[in-house]
Amino acid sequence: MKMYKTDLHIHTCLSPCADLDMSPKYIIKEAEKKGIDIVGICDHNSCENVPAVGRHAENQGGDVNVIGGLEITSNEEVHILALFADEERLFSMQKIVYDNLQGINNEKRFGEQVVVNENDEVMGFNKKLLIGTTELSIEDIVNLIHELDGLAIASHIDRETYSIIHQLGFIPQRIQLDAVEVSTPNKIKDFKDISLPVITSSDAHAIKHIGRSFTWFFMEEPNLEEIRKSLLGKDGRKVMV
Ligand SMILES: [Zn+2]
Ligand SMILES: [Zn+2]
Repeated sequence: MKMYKTDLHIHTCLSPCADLDMSPKYIIKEAEKKGIDIVGICDHNSCENVPAVGRHAENQGGDVNVIGGLEITSNEEVHILALFADEERLFSMQKIVYDNLQGINNEKRFGEQVVVNENDEVMGFNKKLLIGTTELSIEDIVNLIHELDGLAIASHIDRETYSIIHQLGFIPQRIQLDAVEVSTPNKIKDFKDISLPVITSSDAHAIKHIGRSFTWFFMEEPNLEEIRKSLLGKDGRKVMV
């Protein structure tokens, strides 16, 4: 087993609030520069740029491993990271999210939502209101993620916006999260009594922010199943923040 430096929460130019240079090339280049072994690509309510980032990383030799995900907004205005082992299940989740997402993006107000290919070429613009709130509850989202064998992680629980703790005041036991994410490493100590695994990641919307927070996973391979086992502390695997 070995240590994998991991940043599981990175946006691309598909998120209206992210910089336009959050493209496959620049994301992978920055991850390589910072010695990051695993990146999670999680745009707001969409995963359309995941295949491009994955293919670009492979074309670069595969030193950076890409895990596909989405950051889903619940009807309680809570962000949940949904990570999947393969594109089939990832896009099945996206379909459910799209079926429960209303509205059209206002590009002037929120920003463009750029779909790219692995060579950073613009393939189109997503017109959905990706910044919007889905009609799904947190509990629905977590259950749907698990039906597709994904991992459900509550985003940035240390923040005052779109965090489960801020919106609900606590984490209800019926919600079967796999982990919680704290954005600011020096706030991890505030959550030491939480009965869930804690990770930290960057929530990067700009290139320079990639890897500003990251988690070490001690495990066999850089993939989702190994991350799941590490969160459970199986067979000597560990998570270190
Ligand atoms: Zn978020
Ligand atoms: Zn985010």
